[in-house]
Amino acid sequence: MTTIIKHNFGAGPCILPAKVLDEAADAVRNFNGIGLSILEISHRTPEFESVMKETEDLVKELLEVPDGYSILFLQGGASTQFSMLAMNFLHQDKKAAYLDCGYFSQKAIKEALLFGGVDIVASSKDKGYNYIPLGYEIPEDAAYFHYTSNNTIEGTEMFSFPPTTVPVICDMSSDIFSRRVNVADFELIYAGAQKNMGPAGMTLVVVKDSLLEKIQRQVPSMSDYRIYRDNGSLFNTPPVFSIYVAMLNLRWLKEKGGVSQIETENIAKAILLYHEIDRNPLFYGLADPDHRSRMNVTFKMKNPAQEQEFLDFAAARGVVGVKGYRSVGGFRASLYNALPISSVEVLVNCMNDFEKENKEIELAQSESV
Ligand SMILES: *Cc1c(COP(=O)(O)O)cnc(C)c1O
Repeated sequence: MTTIIKHNFGAGPCILPAKVLDEAADAVRNFNGIGLSILEISHRTPEFESVMKETEDLVKELLEVPDGYSILFLQGGASTQFSMLAMNFLHQDKKAAYLDCGYFSQKAIKEALLFGGVDIVASSKDKGYNYIPLGYEIPEDAAYFHYTSNNTIEGTEMFSFPPTTVPVICDMSSDIFSRRVNVADFELIYAGAQKNMGPAGMTLVVVKDSLLEKIQRQVPSMSDYRIYRDNGSLFNTPPVFSIYVAMLNLRWLKEKGGVSQIETENIAKAILLYHEIDRNPLFYGLADPDHRSRMNVTFKMKNPAQEQEFLDFAAARGVVGVKGYRSVGGFRASLYNALPISSVEVLVNCMNDFEKENKEIELAQSESV
């Protein structure tokens, strides 16, 4: 039914499976055959309660969440979590440890400073965040350790962190559900939905219940994780449609074989594109090869004057969303779960053909001299 023919490499909101878009469209017209739209039913109806339950169960199953954790659905995006987590867990007399590994880490640090001290354990700012710092220590008395697992703008991804007894809090906005993680390593995981989980409007929080007992400050209800847990994320009106579409997307992921299956596919997609970036003499990758992201591939052209020409060349073949973030420039191709490998092949062919055309032009020019 859906006839989307573009290859969508957008960084977020991002591509969703065609099947999910079809089912979401059906539910907008008539939800589960009840004669009402998903957009006009109460969040207190049994129909929606079952959506909440299924979404929560799918998160638990796909991420293999151990007992003792709560699944929360919030609003305000991952950016609201930057201040909310500090408001809940960073107290005046304590410091929190932060790894400064990109644009979004910096934003998280800025918000945390409103509530207490921040100890930046390491930073990759010196090289424009093109790598993930290694070999740092996390102070044992820190309130928590915060990092960003995938740096959406710079195109780096972190696969390990030093052992610590401090609670680990992670912004997984742009790589959640893309690879296996051991949830037990974390006390709080948060992610804006629009990078890999669903449409914008919903933020997922997976939090260890024991962490919630450490909240000391008086926190406004809408910023208090305990309120969401105690009310099953229904303290006020939740983002009904965003949760519903996330549920459809997680069902799709489960049918596909879950996170380990998609991880295999995501690795294959990333290898294909990085291989072409490294092979093709016109392009070069921005991230340190040891820390390359599988989700957001950043690269440039050796001759920046050709970048617009390449964007137009690719656009003519249906490739969209590959323009780099404004502060980074060049290109960024996001390879989120729903992007098929066939789209990556189209992009790689574009790069290949652009190189060939370029050679022909050069040859013609040298012959005419
Ligand atoms: C996109 C993004 C954010 C910001 O998300 P919003 O939902 O727009 O607030 C934060 N962190 C990471 C890693 C992101 O990719």
